[in-house]
Amino acid sequence: MTPEIEIQDSLSPGAKAVAYTDPLTGLGNRRRLMDKIRKLASERADDPAPFTIGVANIDGFKPINDLFGHAAGDEILCQVAHRLRACLPDGGFVARIESDEFAFVLPLVFEKKGAEKIGRMFKDVLSAPYDLGDRNVRLSASFGFAVYPFAGEQFAELLKSADTALYRSKRRGRGQITVYSEEIAEEMRRGTQIEQALRRAIIADEVAVHFQPIVNLADASIQGFEALARWTDRELGFVSPGVFIPLAEERGFIDSLTETLLKKAAETAKHWPSEMFLSFNLSSAQLIDPATAFNVLAIVNRVGLDPRRLELEITETAMMSDPEIAAKVVNELHSIGVRVSLDDFGTGQSSLGRLRDFAFNKVKIDRSFVSEITADKSAEHIIRAILTMCEGLNLKVIAEGIETEEQAEMLKALGCRSGQGWLYGKAVDAASTFRLIEAQQQVQTKSAQVYLINR
Ligand code: C2E
Ligand code: MG
Ligand code: MG
Repeated sequence: MTPEIEIQDSLSPGAKAVAYTDPLTGLGNRRRLMDKIRKLASERADDPAPFTIGVANIDGFKPINDLFGHAAGDEILCQVAHRLRACLPDGGFVARIESDEFAFVLPLVFEKKGAEKIGRMFKDVLSAPYDLGDRNVRLSASFGFAVYPFAGEQFAELLKSADTALYRSKRRGRGQITVYSEEIAEEMRRGTQIEQALRRAIIADEVAVHFQPIVNLADASIQGFEALARWTDRELGFVSPGVFIPLAEERGFIDSLTETLLKKAAETAKHWPSEMFLSFNLSSAQLIDPATAFNVLAIVNRVGLDPRRLELEITETAMMSDPEIAAKVVNELHSIGVRVSLDDFGTGQSSLGRLRDFAFNKVKIDRSFVSEITADKSAEHIIRAILTMCEGLNLKVIAEGIETEEQAEMLKALGCRSGQGWLYGKAVDAASTFRLIEAQQQVQTKSAQVYLINR
């Protein structure tokens, strides 16, 4: 028995009820959940029948709170609690374990299919409108389930598995249901292996920054470079930033990684010609951190790069977790002279309103449209629409992932001025950027001489 349980056992029945109850909704709280799960696990330890636990998190609850006020937020939480309690299957239990997070114990659900079925039922029940007196609000919830004993034999381990499953759901968008599985377990093991190697690599300064040219499509001259993280581990080999950046975010050490990368990138960029910019990807964690602009400024100042030569790329999906703080971060970045571009445009939860509300300077059209532009009429129409819209909103546009001359020609014909892609160069190390710039300067000098001679 843990000390926590011993303390609870020494309380009077009234005090115990209070200690085990969520005061807002009247549901059980985390302690009560822990108690339930421990009891059930000890019963099932002799009888090997599985049971299921689950967690549900309301999607975008913070904006609801901000928009309608905390009293309305509380009212919604109470209605959610009421609905969940009303539709619990036989023997089931529900608790509120965090502000907008609920957990269930389902003693008679033994496997994935059963858990998914209950998840769908909860999801439907929660998606009906909420009556707030003068208005109705709709919301969705994401779910994660874990089946005992496979996903864990102890409370903490089981809840962690359910949380991991919930995290997967959140990553896939709103209203998703995930059950912790052997694949997820394997991914977690691999994730832990990569995490350990990456933490070591950051300390040993083995994560590098490469740079991909961003060009003026009219003459392919370099306007700037996008910094892209590169890491090759001795044992794991090359690991894509598409894998290790989200992992560092998920496991909470993206800040130190970003700091190292931005410092390295800025150190290289300050030696480029002053008209060339550095484009750097901000991660979603930085968009919920109010200190981001300050931290960025501290790094570029220390390195000696003019902040007006820095552009930060952010994605819509990253902005979604807390649009209010993200807007604040973007505005502060502007006030210190840093420009902000919207990366991978067209792939996230694109909202045209966001283009107006957020003070972006540039939009980067995602590679998925560019790669289809010569084959698929609808991709062409989408690019045309984005270009027209951005012109109206006074936003510059960069087309990403240009691989062929045909794509480049088509983009130019549609009026796109800047681009990036393997046609113009893959990401290369710092020394190679200087060689590229030098080669460009030589060509420019020669053509200037030819021009002068021919005059
Ligand atoms: P992104 O910011 O959209 O970067 C563009 C990705 O497209 C890069 O992949 C780049 O190598 C690739 N790419 C560029 N041109 C072409 C092309 O013509 N064809 C094809 N097939 N691919 C092209 P990469 O380097 O693997 O990076 C993947 C993602 O990882 C990036 O997408 C970005 O979201 C993230 N990332 C990379 N470096 C960093 C970093 O330093 N910090 C953060 N937060 N994220 C980073
Ligand atoms: Mg980018
Ligand atoms: Mg991109």
